[in-house]
Amino acid sequence: MMSDAASLQDFMPGGQLAPEPDARPNLIGLDRDGLAALVKDMGEPAFRAKQLYHWIYNRGAARFEDMTNLSKAFRAKLEETCRIDRPKVSMHQKSKDGTEKWLLRYEDGNEAEMVFIPETDRGTLCISSQVGCSLTCAFCHTGTQKLVRNLTPGDIVGQVMLARDALGDWAQTEEAGRRISNIVLMGMGEPLYNTDSVMDAMRLVSDGDGIAIGRRKITLSTSGVVPDIRRVGAELGLSLAISLHAVNDELRNRLVPINRKYPIAELMDAVRGYPGLTTSRRVTWEYVMLKGVNDSDADARTLLRLMEGIPSKVNLIPFNPWPGSEFECSDPARIESFLAILHRAGTVATIRKTRGQDILAACGQLKSESERIGKRERLRLDALRAEKEAAVGL
Ligand code: SF4
Repeated sequence: MMSDAASLQDFMPGGQLAPEPDARPNLIGLDRDGLAALVKDMGEPAFRAKQLYHWIYNRGAARFEDMTNLSKAFRAKLEETCRIDRPKVSMHQKSKDGTEKWLLRYEDGNEAEMVFIPETDRGTLCISSQVGCSLTCAFCHTGTQKLVRNLTPGDIVGQVMLARDALGDWAQTEEAGRRISNIVLMGMGEPLYNTDSVMDAMRLVSDGDGIAIGRRKITLSTSGVVPDIRRVGAELGLSLAISLHAVNDELRNRLVPINRKYPIAELMDAVRGYPGLTTSRRVTWEYVMLKGVNDSDADARTLLRLMEGIPSKVNLIPFNPWPGSEFECSDPARIESFLAILHRAGTVATIRKTRGQDILAACGQLKSESERIGKRERLRLDALRAEKEAAVGL
């Protein structure tokens, strides 16, 4: 018989006991009000909350013992009752071109992806808003992974904080050339199906007294959740990107099924009304180039008509095939011809460079890779359990 203290479920691969889950609340994700309530509950003066906020979000302290202007007694109390944990790293890869990708594991075992793309004039961190995605955009690899859960504000901010740790970016100011200058919400998930948490997280990320990445440097990319586009515009004023990918409803219903709920005309109205759009602050239209599907000259001209009067830039994305996908990438000459039509009309448009191709091709692939490894691990664990059960005569 197994003892009550250790059941078979408690064993990790290799036979060690799994660590007990840490019941202390994680402070990452708490805003000023949340920290003020915590400090009050602990019987400390209100100004301690400000100090704590500064240490966590501005200095990036990962241990209470490093918060040197807090009394030793308060630090000990914090250590006993709270923690400041980032997500764990399940997998990290670095491409020849400097692109870095992380598969992050949260406390409940769920995983999400994060990517850092360094360029000469900027460094962009691409973060996730959900584990999996409930939408099923036909060309998207992440869309094949069911939605598991929304990420919390702490899960989302934790990504940025972990990236700053990994890139040694805490001590840098924007002027001194921080490595992460921009953030894009273009990883796993539809951010506007998790709007409250995304907005809370971006308030923390953009706060000048904290992580201090300006709202204009944060781009929220949506497949077109019209009511929440208006809300984000009114309340936060982040930069906006729209995953458009098709210029008529019939095709967009197939490629980006949320279009059945919010068709192109409604989407265009919401974007036209987005506050703060100017020629120096344009909406980005993402347009994946699919051979023979959405890449004709006529499509390019329709796109121009749709964008009329909206300060816009177009990002043409060469499709990156993944196993089981039904599409092919447009030929380079076709993409150039599409681009030329946009340029001749005076539209700002670029072809997205493919980055990090040697470490993985598309969003969602790192997770799939880890699931394959996970399956091997599970089989090993099952074998180990069977062995133990046989040994104890179950
Ligand atoms: S493109 Fe975005 S919204 Fe569509 S399935 Fe992929 S992750 Fe989800």
